[in-house]
Amino acid sequence: MSMETERIFSEVERLKDEMTQALMELIRIPAIAPENGGEGESKKAEKLVQMLKTLGFDQILRFDAEDARVPSKKRPNILAYYYGEKRDETLWIVTHMDVVPPGEDSLWTVTKPFEPTVKDGKIYGRGSEDNMQSMIASVFAVKALKNLGIKPKRTVGLGLVADEEQGSKYGIQYLIKQGLFKPKDLVVVPDVGYADGSFMETAEKSVVWFRIRTIGKQTHASRPEMGLNAHRVGMQYALALDELLHEKYPAKDENFEPPASTFEPTEKEQNVDAVNIIPGEDVSYFDCRILPSYDPDEVLDAVSKLAADFEKKTGAKIGIELVQKTVASEPTDVNVKIVLMLKEAIRKTRGIEPKVGGIGGGTCAAYFRDINVPAVVWSTIDEMAHQPNEYAKIENIVNDAKIFAYLATA
Ligand SMILES: [Zn+2]
Repeated sequence: MSMETERIFSEVERLKDEMTQALMELIRIPAIAPENGGEGESKKAEKLVQMLKTLGFDQILRFDAEDARVPSKKRPNILAYYYGEKRDETLWIVTHMDVVPPGEDSLWTVTKPFEPTVKDGKIYGRGSEDNMQSMIASVFAVKALKNLGIKPKRTVGLGLVADEEQGSKYGIQYLIKQGLFKPKDLVVVPDVGYADGSFMETAEKSVVWFRIRTIGKQTHASRPEMGLNAHRVGMQYALALDELLHEKYPAKDENFEPPASTFEPTEKEQNVDAVNIIPGEDVSYFDCRILPSYDPDEVLDAVSKLAADFEKKTGAKIGIELVQKTVASEPTDVNVKIVLMLKEAIRKTRGIEPKVGGIGGGTCAAYFRDINVPAVVWSTIDEMAHQPNEYAKIENIVNDAKIFAYLATA
């Protein structure tokens, strides 16, 4: 390793406590999507802009997408630039500000979701790993360079975006529409990874979410024959659908983790308020991650066809409403510059051989691939995203920041 790299790495290590504090500050500001009853990312964005201003970035820009559903009416996106020797090539590190809701409160046994705490070298709190860990690592990679007065080889651009958890329409998709990214750019999306940092993701499955609304007829539970139990029909349909989709779409691709398509019944909306009422309406959801070899529209046709069969059989109405559909993008070529650079960085700094493959998706990387900007997804995490007691390991923040700094200067 060169002298300069060693200096950078020890500067990153010196910033460890500052990174920990900064990450904890971010956890204290929830940024939950309006779809989940939250007020969006505005407060967190204010904090981040403040933070970035003190670190000496060359340029900080905000691109706010309008969204009437949140109090500020805006979904903020921040781009922060630290200029390099080459201005025509930008290393982008894209992370997201929004977090998913904490879920069942009682399952948070280490600390409350938005009251971060440090225990055994880990920072606990909602959003700690997904995606504040990588956001802080990217910000402090630049800070380390700045502190040492090192101009990176290429411009480093940090993208801190909104709306990743709900499909990115107000986040990276909005930024891409502004024409800010070029095919020559090098994009890293640190939002998926293995515990040892050995996995680099260059492909994603199609993502399809839909709502199943079953309408029957509400009645007293002692007289079921007077109504039509929408909950029963909803469950029967969901189970039959689960089986059908797995049977109809069994293909495996060992480059993906997991290798098969996934079809999961997930969210369930509340129906009636009392045990002795037969529900007249039932709402549940499926999350499907479909291998690129299948057409997601064909899958949706199968979903609708089975719903029609169940309507005939039961007399209930079953409506299928699409919540999200992201068709798998063309995978990033495994021989492009950013993939090779990152491989080299992992090898050199960790002494391991990274594996390159696909995942269930969908990250911000998919939208870059759609406009032919190669993007690689990588980070070092314990895969605690969306779980109770989510945490980020402090050593992972430090070590990933080293890799970002390395990519900027290599
Ligand atoms: Zn994430």
